[in-house]
Amino acid sequence: MPRSYDDDDDDDDDEEEEEIEYVLFQGALDGSEADLKANAKLVKLGLMEAKELVTDAVSRRASISVLEPKGNVAVGKVVIDTIPHPAGKMPAKRALATTQMIKLLSGMDINDRKSPQNGGMHATYNDVKYKLYVKTEPVEGGLEKLTIQIVNDKEVIDSPATAGMSDDFRRRLREMSTDGNGLVIACGPPGTGTTTTMQMTVLCVDLCTYTVYSLADHGHADLHNVNAFQIKEEHDLETTFDRMLRMDADFVYVPPITDPTILKSILAYQDRAGFFAEVAAPDPATAIAKLIELAGDPAVVANALRAIVTQRPIRLLCEKCRQAYRPNPKVKKSLGLPEDLRTLYRKFEPPPPPEDEDEEEEEYDPCEHCNEVGFRGRTNMFELIPINDTLKQHISSGFDPAVFRKLAREQETTHTLQSDGMRLVISGRTALEELQRVFRPAGAAKKKQRPKRR
Ligand SMILES: [Zn+2]
Repeated sequence: MPRSYDDDDDDDDDEEEEEIEYVLFQGALDGSEADLKANAKLVKLGLMEAKELVTDAVSRRASISVLEPKGNVAVGKVVIDTIPHPAGKMPAKRALATTQMIKLLSGMDINDRKSPQNGGMHATYNDVKYKLYVKTEPVEGGLEKLTIQIVNDKEVIDSPATAGMSDDFRRRLREMSTDGNGLVIACGPPGTGTTTTMQMTVLCVDLCTYTVYSLADHGHADLHNVNAFQIKEEHDLETTFDRMLRMDADFVYVPPITDPTILKSILAYQDRAGFFAEVAAPDPATAIAKLIELAGDPAVVANALRAIVTQRPIRLLCEKCRQAYRPNPKVKKSLGLPEDLRTLYRKFEPPPPPEDEDEEEEEYDPCEHCNEVGFRGRTNMFELIPINDTLKQHISSGFDPAVFRKLAREQETTHTLQSDGMRLVISGRTALEELQRVFRPAGAAKKKQRPKRR
């Protein structure tokens, strides 16, 4: 599904026949070789389609491309800087060939369309290298939903700094590791990168001084100096923790806490090592409520809990077209912005179309850097709530999510999402409007956007 290129040519002097550059597929990530000869028919039907699908996604800087069969058609979607966009439709048959072709190139079994599969391949587009992580899930009618995660080799998040954790935030996490027992959890809304936050939190530990063992699935991440630990078949979790402690474990990175058994084991060992774990909950208060439910006793949760981290992705203003403005003193005051702050930035807005039809439209140069979106790229805001005595007291004596939120915000040691977002606004990397969008309650009415002018 390539974008359609305009061919209205009245005043464009430099618009020659535009040659579309296609992505190059360069082998499965697992090194397996696709037998293209034996699958000549599939190659004929699906290779070009597969190239078009991936080229469209990569050229739009998408991080995710989805092709999902719905009846007789398959619907395409891409996620660009956290925002989903439509990516066309194609007949279900063509989608089948596309998906099968991508599976073949990604080292997956094309004869199996009934079980979920994972694979991936290397690719190059415009001399930039990408990794495509491919996932298929069976849907009705013997078809599959295809999801491709696209990772630009130059934009890999491989350190707390590249994830967007500020110096101050990293320093605080690092300081916490000096007396490291207890449980540190990460949580956040689905799809906002909670696993990455947990991994980057683990990397904030001083890994030259302390030993970290991991039982968690690291996914695509390369967590150097975090030692993957194999559970022996005959061992349960507690025997495994004992083995780790004998091998001088200071910290243990465990899989997400989903059931009472894993939490019980952690609680039994949390005074001998520090633990890192994800909890599937959209926010810290909900995560604590979940832990209390699993443990059956708020006091043991309060006693063990050391800190909670969470995150929210946010788009960055396009540096080429962002617009500076002088913030109004009243706004500055109400938002707690520094008094001497002279400039903020917002996204470029094209001049409004003239009200009188005879009037000429105001000229402006469309920004090619961000494709007129006004934003390009993204980072994360992070929150850190150390569970101090006040918060422990509250958790063990009748935890109330609303009261907890208020109390947490009042603690000087808390580093909130909002303050982290303001840091990005003040530095001009994002806009107040974008911050408001991120914090707008789900389901709130979206502002109508002016149609794009070309
Ligand atoms: Zn721009």
